[in-house]
Amino acid sequence: MIISLSSPDITNKDIASVNKVLRTRHLSLGPKLRVFEEQIAKYTGVKHALAVSNGTAGLHLIIRAMGIKKGDEVITPPFSFISSANCILYENAVPVFVDIRPDTLTIDTEKIEEKITARTKAILAVDVFAHPAEWDKLRRIAGRHKLLLIEDSAEALGSQYKGKKCGSFADAAVFSFYPNKQITTGEGGMIVSNDKNLIHNCCSMSNQGRKFIDGKWFEHAVLGYNYRMSDINAALGLSQLSRIKSIIKKRHSVAMAYHKRLKAVADVEAPFTADNIKINWFVYVVRLAQGYTGSDRAGIISYLASKGIQCGEYFKPIHLQPFYQKKFGYRPGHFPVCEALAQRTIALPFYNNLKPCEVDYVVKNLSQGIKKCR
Ligand SMILES: *Cc1c(COP(=O)(O)O)cnc(C)c1O
Repeated sequence: MIISLSSPDITNKDIASVNKVLRTRHLSLGPKLRVFEEQIAKYTGVKHALAVSNGTAGLHLIIRAMGIKKGDEVITPPFSFISSANCILYENAVPVFVDIRPDTLTIDTEKIEEKITARTKAILAVDVFAHPAEWDKLRRIAGRHKLLLIEDSAEALGSQYKGKKCGSFADAAVFSFYPNKQITTGEGGMIVSNDKNLIHNCCSMSNQGRKFIDGKWFEHAVLGYNYRMSDINAALGLSQLSRIKSIIKKRHSVAMAYHKRLKAVADVEAPFTADNIKINWFVYVVRLAQGYTGSDRAGIISYLASKGIQCGEYFKPIHLQPFYQKKFGYRPGHFPVCEALAQRTIALPFYNNLKPCEVDYVVKNLSQGIKKCR
């Protein structure tokens, strides 16, 4: 049996809606794009949305549109996918890392204020593994220090915090539609915000700096990029979004199957969910008990691989990535909570159509792997 870490869920209806676009004259900048944007905005509960080529491009545009520039500081967690810090570097601003909470794995709001300086412009918090950050507290801190707030919601489409959806908490947020995310467009992303001006600026920059209203096609008002999403991708996204409820349900039932079976396994903890949170599961990341080392984990992961089970080591701390170490002089020990947890997490296979018998097989082998490697 081979069980992959992730697998997209593409239906005949998805394929038909992509095919339909391929038979029109609008493969890009067509009607599907604007409908997809409207639907994501409506779903998230924000006023405006802009589709982009991927989540990373969306984060970059937000940083630029907010005027974050050389020497400015942006507070962000080291436990994330690399693009949430890279987007700050694209504009030569400085990511200032703040360690994470050991339970939710999101940025530790208690440790933010000590890192704020006169150069701090924004806080970029991440809804890690679809678990929302503490948005009430983040908004309070941002308000007190007049900072902009950015939500990296790339992993959290459909998750909720106190009854509101992820993507709606900051001045601007981003979703990703990479194939392992809750819905996919192949490659793709979306910026969402209630700030019309910010979205307009991002729209212009995503389309080579063209003016979006009354602009001539070959007139470029500002420095822009080609960060557009095609109508082919948008059609796939729309089709997937139309069944988001059933996607959430499927992912929830896979997560609950893991929860239940893991109760019988020693030395491994299921993912933590805080009160007032609803998760639209992105990945299923368990952690080994305290005392397990990175090499114990490597042994367990390779045991699982020998049984055809693919697992992931999410995340290697950003500050310990080679070029961050080189550029900023980071060393192990700088963010101890993040580093300790990052050695003990294992992302188990997780996708919409993972079958209960496959969950059984994964958990049985995880249990054996733990016994063998300790
Ligand atoms: C996936 C992801 C991104 C980037 O999205 P892409 O569409 O792959 O560029 C950014 N941040 C986080 C936390 C992610 O998981």
